[in-house]
Amino acid sequence: KKNDQDRRKLEKTREEWLAGVSHDLKTPLSAVKGYADLLAEPQYEWSKEEVRQYAKVIQDKANYMENLINDLNLTFRLKNDALHLQKKPFNLVELVRRAVIDIVNDPRAEAMEIEFHPAKEELIYPVDVKWFKRALNNLLINAVVHNPPGTKINVSVEQDVTKDQIFIVIEDNGVGMDQETLAHLFDRYFRGTRAKKNETGTGLGMAIAEQLIKAHDGRIDIESEIGRGTKIRLSFLLEASVAQLEEKKFP
Ligand code: ADP
Ligand code: MG
Repeated sequence: KKNDQDRRKLEKTREEWLAGVSHDLKTPLSAVKGYADLLAEPQYEWSKEEVRQYAKVIQDKANYMENLINDLNLTFRLKNDALHLQKKPFNLVELVRRAVIDIVNDPRAEAMEIEFHPAKEELIYPVDVKWFKRALNNLLINAVVHNPPGTKINVSVEQDVTKDQIFIVIEDNGVGMDQETLAHLFDRYFRGTRAKKNETGTGLGMAIAEQLIKAHDGRIDIESEIGRGTKIRLSFLLEASVAQLEEKKFP
């Protein structure tokens, strides 16, 4: 409770937030306008290569704006309980495997060493496959984009010894986070002190991941140290899931 209060105090005010969002939309929008104006200028004869280059900038900026608007939309829906999850029992090992495959195929992860350590047995838990995967994806993408090439990323799914919890662990040996970044990590619209030059992020990835994990009755724990890397552990209580499923079966 105390932590929640502290965090709310730390969260940006609505005005600061709006200022941030409009600024973050305005900058790429100016670029889009600028390049479109250039292309439309009748007295210039652009080469094919130039046209492609300018179109690429327009594409990138438009993609960023689309991501930002989608992420904003999603955080608001999550905050207002307006995202209706469709949970069904699913093997988390398989789900994490799919998320890892997606990240391995992402061009941004080309220079990373990504390893998957699955549990041998199936670990069934009620999830909304699409949104659970989205939470994993946000965490995996962060491990990729905030760390230098060659960073090792280990992803594991395991059960604890007493078999009443499932852990999903995403660990990287990258740059780690400073105290300020750690303190504000789950704040909506916060970007790490060193992340600002990375243009594709919206500062909403961790907030969305946390909300989605909570919506799946899970918890998220972070350990991070500058220069050593970051470890994110998601935990899910199996008992709760069993009780829930029984409720559904025998209403
Ligand atoms: P962003 O759009 O910047 O990725 P996120 O909410 O996803 O926003 O993450 C917030 C900040 O947390 C990032 O800007 C970055 O500074 C930090 N961060 C998240 N994951 C990692 C990681 N694996 N290694 C280092 N820093 C990270
Ligand atoms: Mg992110």
